[in-house]
Amino acid sequence: MGYINKERSTRWPNSETIPLFIDPDNPISDEQKNHLLNVLDLEDVRVNFIIQTDNPTQPDHIRVSRDDSINAKGEYGIIINGQDIGVPGRHPDATHHFIKLRSTATAEDIRHELGHALGLFHEHQRSDAGTFIVLEISNIKPSSMQFVNPIIDNHLLTIGQYNYDSMMHYPEIMPNHSVDASQPIYTKTPLPVDPNEPAFLSPNHADMYTIKLMYGIGKSLDLGDVSKSVLVLKRVLDALDYGIGPFDIELDQTTLESVVEFHEDKNLGFTDTVTSATWNKLGSKLPFIMIGGEGEDTLHLGAVGPQVKTLQCILFSLGFDLGITGDPPNTGIDGQYGQRTGKALVRLKKDSRILSENASINNNTTTVDSNTRNMLSSLLKDGIDWPE
Ligand SMILES: [Zn+2]
Repeated sequence: MGYINKERSTRWPNSETIPLFIDPDNPISDEQKNHLLNVLDLEDVRVNFIIQTDNPTQPDHIRVSRDDSINAKGEYGIIINGQDIGVPGRHPDATHHFIKLRSTATAEDIRHELGHALGLFHEHQRSDAGTFIVLEISNIKPSSMQFVNPIIDNHLLTIGQYNYDSMMHYPEIMPNHSVDASQPIYTKTPLPVDPNEPAFLSPNHADMYTIKLMYGIGKSLDLGDVSKSVLVLKRVLDALDYGIGPFDIELDQTTLESVVEFHEDKNLGFTDTVTSATWNKLGSKLPFIMIGGEGEDTLHLGAVGPQVKTLQCILFSLGFDLGITGDPPNTGIDGQYGQRTGKALVRLKKDSRILSENASINNNTTTVDSNTRNMLSSLLKDGIDWPE
């Protein structure tokens, strides 16, 4: 589901305005430009790409150009001292970052390169990849081994289960990396599905889950915007005794009026939109409203109540499939702490390194303790900080 660098400096600061500068001398097509802005489902994550028309002077930007001489259909890189250092993500010492695209690069190719830009490594290069694929070494060009061999590095973290369907996983047939273009570069060794693992709403949600952990789900929103994180916004405002509109995924006028009131109460100035400052403040309140209900110190399996709904809203925004019960329909947000909620939270606690990967699902591991509350709080802000 993901392979990332845990260092915060490899993530984009100001992630809601990541500047793309389209090289005017080697321009990509209008269709490709459109893909750059729309191909990733950024509805529930604090990330946005913007086109900057002036040639940027700041290092934190991505130069996008057409280049039909590259080996693959797309390429991402970080330039330091004139050299591409060959890793994904953002680098504080870069003079700039780049995406090169062939004229034939498709939406899928562009999605893959944007994944690299946000910090995703190849799924098939995860440290555990050897359990899931066997490389056909004799059919891989020696110069291509660096793109397929597992990368072992203690700064890197696997997120979720290994995912053959990830946008960051090569297909079996990769002509540009093969000796014989008609033959595969690896074969799959699929393992049985683990019944303790939660399901995602779609394979795309599984990829975006990793990006949400890195950058947070609290993105800026205007009146009428539609996002699963609007459910989180409404639940948290409700828990803090502010009025909310209909409990659905659209940001309505009533809820926005409460946001303005919340801004005034917290000295955030008069702003009639939901900004990162709103989410940062709401996130800081989360540990105080998720302390369990009806005489309980902590939430755990079997608990019932509005605090469980708040937890479920966050898990739903992260892309977990919580079932078809509850309100709104088909969200699983029913206020009852059952197995689906438990599986999703245990997965999240493993991925944030609160639990070890071999932890099972039981009354202890499903507890929303103070570490878990702080982790959930950081998801409303700008993502998880992983321990050293
Ligand atoms: Zn790649």
